[in-house]
Amino acid sequence: MTRRKASNIDVRKVNRINVIRAILACERISQPELTQQLEISWPTVLQNVKELIDLGLVEEVGAFASTGGRKPRAFAPVKDAKLAIGIDITQNHIGLVLINLAGDLISFTRSKKTFSMDDSYFRELGQAVDRFVLSSGYEPDRVTGAGISLPGIISADGGVINYSHVLGLVNAPARACTKHIKYPCALINDANAAGLAEMYGLSEHSNAVYLSLSNSVGGAILPAGGFYEGDNLRAGEFGHNTLYPAGKTCYCGKKGCVDPYCSARVLHEHTNGNLNLFFEELAAGDDKLQEVWQDYLQDLSIVINNLRMTFDCDVIVGGYVGGFMEDYIYDLQQLCAKRNTFEQDASYLRLCKYKLEASAVGAALTGVEKYIINL
Ligand SMILES: [Zn+2]
Repeated sequence: MTRRKASNIDVRKVNRINVIRAILACERISQPELTQQLEISWPTVLQNVKELIDLGLVEEVGAFASTGGRKPRAFAPVKDAKLAIGIDITQNHIGLVLINLAGDLISFTRSKKTFSMDDSYFRELGQAVDRFVLSSGYEPDRVTGAGISLPGIISADGGVINYSHVLGLVNAPARACTKHIKYPCALINDANAAGLAEMYGLSEHSNAVYLSLSNSVGGAILPAGGFYEGDNLRAGEFGHNTLYPAGKTCYCGKKGCVDPYCSARVLHEHTNGNLNLFFEELAAGDDKLQEVWQDYLQDLSIVINNLRMTFDCDVIVGGYVGGFMEDYIYDLQQLCAKRNTFEQDASYLRLCKYKLEASAVGAALTGVEKYIINL
């Protein structure tokens, strides 16, 4: 990557973005805290704060107690001044979320709907989004943007869904998916979206790998505030790493991939496709399911240890199974620690913050980010 020297316009823009981000990250912040955190002069900060107040994004909320001299002024974000919609398309469901500028989840709904590339599917999706916004009680003009997450590889320019095995798509135009959404809208891969949601608000220096354990296994590589997508946009397809050469056949046709061992299907195939029921019966002590679960955790610990060895950063377990992992994360950490060459514990292994709504939140965050970057 080549670095170019920032022009004055770039510097002004970067300052503006940094000021709004710093204010959005807290409930209230004082004038000295802002200048110290941003390492820019108070007149520059003040100019930006004034403009953000004029835009209705920041408000002055009195003063902090004085530590001698004048009381420092205090500012707070108007988090709900702008909102964004996230849409998560899966094979059989649509998830919708509304978030505010700080990334806080305002509402979430998920309904059954079988995916189709027909225009009627997307027209109904557009109508569902409109109803969802109305039911939130917020004026639609506060919605600044939307994002759609789906299980597929999106072209670098965002114009084409290159491939989606789950949705049965090859080189499908993105515009077909977004044209009935009345807000600026872009597509994002579902695992990348979920990873983005998990990383939001953390230090820009944090690295992590997100492992999505849903009806298929996927993931995202999240170095220092960005994505690593690879030369062919296929990075993070952990479901097709080889776990057992000559093992079970994967949906991709190859033998021994991670997917047929670690997807949610491996579990819910024992409870009529109902993952909730699997975990209920597991907790109730069903012997057969205990055995299935122990095998699953063993296989998963190999996958996770390989990720830790490859990337040397936090690993976040998410997807449908991640949503049920709370009571078992310690067991899984123990298994991972046993495999590790260098570490005694596996505290690098983290549970996802979001459950079913993760990808939709990440998609909505792309709308928030676009708004902030263009301020
Ligand atoms: Zn495979």
